[in-house]
Amino acid sequence: MTSLDVRTARPDQLVSGDKGQWEIICGLEVHAQVSSQAKLFSGASAAYGGEPNAHVSLVDAAMPGMLPVINKFCVEQAIRTGLGLNAEIHRWSRFDRKNYFYPDLPQGYQISQYKEPIVGEGEIEVEPDGEEPITIRIERLHLEQDAGKSIHDLSPNETYVDLNRAGVALMEIVSRPDIRSAKEAAAYFNKLRAILRALGTCDGNMEEGSMRADVNVSVRRAGTKEWGTRCEIKNVNSTRFMMQAIEYESRRQIEILEGGGLIDQETRLFDPDKGETRTMRSKEDAHDYRYFPDPDLLPLVLDEAWIAEIKASLPELPDAKKKRFVSDYGLTAYDAGVLAGDSDAAAYFETVAKGRDGKAAANWVTQELFGALNKKGVELSASPVKAEQLGALLDLIKDGTINGKIAKDVFAKMIETGEAPGAIVERDGLKQVTDTGAIEKTIDELMAANPDKVDDVKKNPKAFGWWVGQTMKATGGKANPAVVNDILKKKLGV
Ligand code: MN
Repeated sequence: MTSLDVRTARPDQLVSGDKGQWEIICGLEVHAQVSSQAKLFSGASAAYGGEPNAHVSLVDAAMPGMLPVINKFCVEQAIRTGLGLNAEIHRWSRFDRKNYFYPDLPQGYQISQYKEPIVGEGEIEVEPDGEEPITIRIERLHLEQDAGKSIHDLSPNETYVDLNRAGVALMEIVSRPDIRSAKEAAAYFNKLRAILRALGTCDGNMEEGSMRADVNVSVRRAGTKEWGTRCEIKNVNSTRFMMQAIEYESRRQIEILEGGGLIDQETRLFDPDKGETRTMRSKEDAHDYRYFPDPDLLPLVLDEAWIAEIKASLPELPDAKKKRFVSDYGLTAYDAGVLAGDSDAAAYFETVAKGRDGKAAANWVTQELFGALNKKGVELSASPVKAEQLGALLDLIKDGTINGKIAKDVFAKMIETGEAPGAIVERDGLKQVTDTGAIEKTIDELMAANPDKVDDVKKNPKAFGWWVGQTMKATGGKANPAVVNDILKKKLGV
């Protein structure tokens, strides 16, 4: 077991119980919906939503005699994802039936991959907020079908079944139990999401359930090596809930163990309203599913040339992008990570930064733009300020048309109206005053009106700030600050 157990929690990650320190052991099974128009084994639409049971073929409804046909595009997406996770691509894999009964599973089994998954071991680098990067190992990625949906809340005594999701292609990505804190779990999930989105193999839309995680949690006394009994928390669909669930579940297990009890291996649900996990069912073992190779499907044998072709077409991934943002644009590792971690943000930033000062572009994007969008609760893709317009605003600062302070006012108007910065500057008369004559006149008037302050600044250099502030105010913030400084120094003799 030692080879599987490569990480030990740092002292600050240990959890204190009443009777000593504990280590959290956590692994994630992430279900990611393949971005594909059609389902895994039928031609029915895999689109989200739609009228109930509108996207159901005879295969999805498991009509007698219907046979599954593998969707090559979905296989390609799984290979692409495996390559993006630095993982081994298995040239030979196969599909198995995982047998169980549920009303939203008309076949009576899920077609999945059990012993021979399409993707084997891989690893990704993860950077929990403010901590050193860690490597989380991936055990496997396999392809499988999603089930339909049972709807229990439309009628007091009936359950409805919607098969639109039945048969949709999922990639189940299983990590090694390398995660040692709730924060690491969230960072791993976010990194995985960034990679899938960059690859284009999953849209990562958590509201629509495109990515959801089963979280395995166990605890053991600090300094010991033996694994504890784990519980699996099913279908967690946000990183915030994931962190709450891990924190709650580890505390629950510690309390039981310190009280002399034992942990039952079980599947649990996280209740976001109460912030707690509760029993869903006692854990079934793999043999309960009676897995066996699906006789309707041939083994999946991959052609080397095809894998090579997919490899050659991989886009730049977040890690490489981050490095490039640091080297090409001079960004801090933190800003580069924030921007490279999301493909929309990265593309937006690069449009703004192209041919301009990269650091200034990063500041405007991560601080002003993200701040404003956050406040409005708007996604970047729906930003009223397009990247080209933000770039134009930076040009107006660079060529001296407006100063930095006015630029923020112009930006606030852009966010409200979506107008171009040039038009706002023109209409509102916001052009920077660099005319030294006009600035000198303003300063002369201020000096005549404030003789005491003229004396003051000679004795106390800190009072200079008052003069800069007053001059800027008198020009409506439009004066060129550098020119104002020069003239003030000359006239005040400081
Ligand atoms: Mn699964």
